[in-house]
Amino acid sequence: MDNKISAEALLEQIFSITQNLYTEMSRPESDAENDHAAIYRLLTDLGRTLVNADRASFWKWDKRNHTLWTTAAVGAGRITIPEGTGLVGKALNERRAIITNDPYNCPDFNSDVDKKTGYVTKSILVMPISDCKGEFIGAYQAINKLDGSGFDLAEDVRRLSLAAFICGITLESDSFLDDSRHDKLTELKNRMGFYSDYTRNFEKLLTDTDNPRSVSLFICDIDFFKKVNDTYGHNAGDAVLRHVAKHFRQNSRACDGVYRWGGEEFIVLLPETTAEQAAEAAERLRTCIMESTCHFEDLDIKVTMSFGVTELNPTLSIEENISIADGKLYKAKQEGRNRVII
Ligand code: GH3
Ligand code: MG
Ligand code: MG
Repeated sequence: MDNKISAEALLEQIFSITQNLYTEMSRPESDAENDHAAIYRLLTDLGRTLVNADRASFWKWDKRNHTLWTTAAVGAGRITIPEGTGLVGKALNERRAIITNDPYNCPDFNSDVDKKTGYVTKSILVMPISDCKGEFIGAYQAINKLDGSGFDLAEDVRRLSLAAFICGITLESDSFLDDSRHDKLTELKNRMGFYSDYTRNFEKLLTDTDNPRSVSLFICDIDFFKKVNDTYGHNAGDAVLRHVAKHFRQNSRACDGVYRWGGEEFIVLLPETTAEQAAEAAERLRTCIMESTCHFEDLDIKVTMSFGVTELNPTLSIEENISIADGKLYKAKQEGRNRVII
């Protein structure tokens, strides 16, 4: 590669990358895995060019789920590995950039991705990336030096520095967004997460003119929850919320959205599900909560929940649809609680 490019050519490249970024970011969020997918894609590609590599990917350290994942690697979809594993895990653990130009003789190299894709890795550079406070949050990975010479730790890290820095800031901003969409107590998504998911994933199912699909939701509320707090204390109440949230997570499909709507209220969004099917799902959850016991310190606490189910009406706003479900929840409370109203 010719390393000496003129300032004019460099400016032209920076301008074109910036333009592409704005164009891509202003597109509807359609299939993007996260809010800044376009930034990662373009900046990763810039770094790949600068270090003369065949592939490059950007890894996010998902501390909530204890995984490392990337969407940009070797033609495959999303690749997820447990945190602390592979060369990316090693670079993050040791808080330093690492290279290997002989990966198959390197004990930390995980050849699973090669096995899946048929790609043969000959050299790797992994550069961990930190946030503004110096905490490591992700890693930049370049694979296979195109001229076969292998990576050079000092030189290639220098070449990656700007792209890696921008990816780092972007990742930090994604993490803030992610945190703002989750509830700290139950680790479920919160109301902001609900609206984000709804506009990104669910609304388009309803409004697809060629192939509209049904989406249902139920809203549910713990019965007499105030009494739990009053009898056992607020910490026990918190434990019950976590207990209920765990059952919601375990009993829903990967495609369902589960949210802490506020206080002791939860919402579940079910794609491609009719009202009847949603009511069955709600009924299963109701039974499961009723039969389960929350163990907190030396207490065994049992609660029940009431549910209001509705199939979303595409001609109404999401707020109006929730209001309909809320009406059914109110009815479930009126009729004696611990029941599902459709
Ligand atoms: P109902 O069956 O009619 O729903 O009765 P309820 O007692 O569950 O309803 P109410 O709205 O009177 O009480 C809800 C309680 O939930 C009051 C509030 O203090 C408590 N709560 C809300 N958020 C939290 C939380 O994060 N932790 C704890 N421990 N309690 C919470
Ligand atoms: Mg309640
Ligand atoms: Mg309530």
